[in-house]
Amino acid sequence: KLNEKKVGAKANLLDGVKDIIAVASGKGGVGKSTTAVNLAVSLAKTCQLKVGLLDADVYGPSIPTMMKVHAKPEVNEDKKMVPIENYGVKCMSIGFLVDKDSPIVWRGPMVMSALEKLTRGVDWGKLDILVVDMPPGTGDAQLSMSQRLQLSGALIVSTPQDVALIDARRGANMFRKVQVPILGLIENMSCFCCPHCGKKSYIFGSGGARRTADEMDMEFLGEIPLEEEIRRSSDAGDPIVISSPDSTVSRAYNEVAHKV
Ligand code: ADP
Repeated sequence: KLNEKKVGAKANLLDGVKDIIAVASGKGGVGKSTTAVNLAVSLAKTCQLKVGLLDADVYGPSIPTMMKVHAKPEVNEDKKMVPIENYGVKCMSIGFLVDKDSPIVWRGPMVMSALEKLTRGVDWGKLDILVVDMPPGTGDAQLSMSQRLQLSGALIVSTPQDVALIDARRGANMFRKVQVPILGLIENMSCFCCPHCGKKSYIFGSGGARRTADEMDMEFLGEIPLEEEIRRSSDAGDPIVISSPDSTVSRAYNEVAHKV
C-alpha cells in the first residue's frame, strides 16, 4: 500500500528511514499499542523488512513491557541513543526517558523536544519502516507530531463501539487535515468466542467499524478478536505473532502487515 501510494519517495524526518507510519486511535485503551507491536514484529518477521518501533505514547508508554525491552539505551560516540532490539525490531520508547512511577505533565514544547530526542537523537540505522505508536487522541500534541514526523501514512485502530468509532473518525480527519494518507482501519476486540462453549459474543457491537471505514473512504484492514491470549502475551512481552505464530489472530496481523 505504501508503495502504491508512492509515498515512500517523500523525504521524511530521518535519513535512512524509508517510511514512517503512525498507529493511532482517537480513544485510549482500544488496543493501539498491541496492534503497533504485533504489526511491527510481523513486518520484520513475515515481510522481512528492517523495522523500528517508536513508542511516542506520552500518556502511557507500553512498548517496554509489550516488547520486553527494559534496559536503558546506550549512547554511542555520536551521542545518539542506540535502540534496543527484540524480535527483529529496533525499539525506542518515551518510557526509557522518564521515571516509571512519576507523573509527568506533558506540555506541547516538552512533547516536541522528547519526540526530537526519540527520532533524530536515535541511531536508527537503515530502516524500511518505522512504526510509531502515537498518543491517543486528536489534540495539539498528536497534530504537531504528525506534521513533524512527516508520516508516509497512518493506520487507525478502533473497537466496534460507537464512542470509539466517533473518535476514530476524528483521528482520520486529523490526519487528512495534515495530508497524511490513511492506510486503513483495524477493528480490535471485534468479537469474543467463549473458550468453554464456543459461543460468539459481540461485546462492543458489530459491523460499526466496517461501516465507518466505508463512510470515511478508508480501507478496512481486518478484525482482531477479544482474546485472553492476546492480553496475556502482551503482558508477558511475547507478542502473539511470536508466541502463537500459527493462530488465527497471528494470521490476521500478518495479513494487515502485508496490506500495509
Ligand atoms: P491502547 O494502546 O489503545 O491504550 P493497548 O494496546 O495498551 O491499548 O491495550 C489495552 C489493554 O487491552 C492491554 O492490556 C492489552 O493487552 C489489552 N488488549 C488489547 N487488544 C486486545 C485483544 N484483542 N484481546 C484481548 N486483550 C486486548
